[in-house]
Amino acid sequence: MINRKCRFCDSTQNVTRVKKRFNACASCKPAVYAVLNSPDVIEEVWPLLQDRAILPQSRRIKIPWKTDIAEVLDAKRYKAKDREDNNWYLIVSEWEGKPVELFMSSADDNNHKLQFQIANLTALTRLVSLMLRHVFLGERITLEKIKTQLKRSSRVRQDLPDLVLNVLSKDEIQ
Ligand SMILES: [Zn+2]
Repeated sequence: MINRKCRFCDSTQNVTRVKKRFNACASCKPAVYAVLNSPDVIEEVWPLLQDRAILPQSRRIKIPWKTDIAEVLDAKRYKAKDREDNNWYLIVSEWEGKPVELFMSSADDNNHKLQFQIANLTALTRLVSLMLRHVFLGERITLEKIKTQLKRSSRVRQDLPDLVLNVLSKDEIQ
């Protein structure tokens, strides 16, 4: 008798042939059949439960942030006070009920003392937005994208995002 091995976990227990293509054990088989029978459900459930992109190399996968995502997104606006009593608006854009973008702006008119913080705030919201698109839309995060967001956050040289960008741009990191 051939000693069959599960292709996915190397187990030799209760291994059977699936679709005449590979061996799967009894534990892995439900997942294999879920992918076979309900690929659309898997694609939808995956970003809700996993924080890495599903099959980024596959051509079959939908790329919602490039194709389906609407030009106009619904958004929720929240008001919050920081510890120095400044008022802020936090605006969270949603796509199919999931948060995919974050903006923040000062709710106090002409608050000049906050100006120096704007670059840091912009970097925070741009990077959080990038991560949200990764989590909920499966967008791949690359070093290049991180650097682009940092570059767009700095208003003048030596803003904090600019310092981070410089470190990330050093040769040994790339
Ligand atoms: Zn297995």
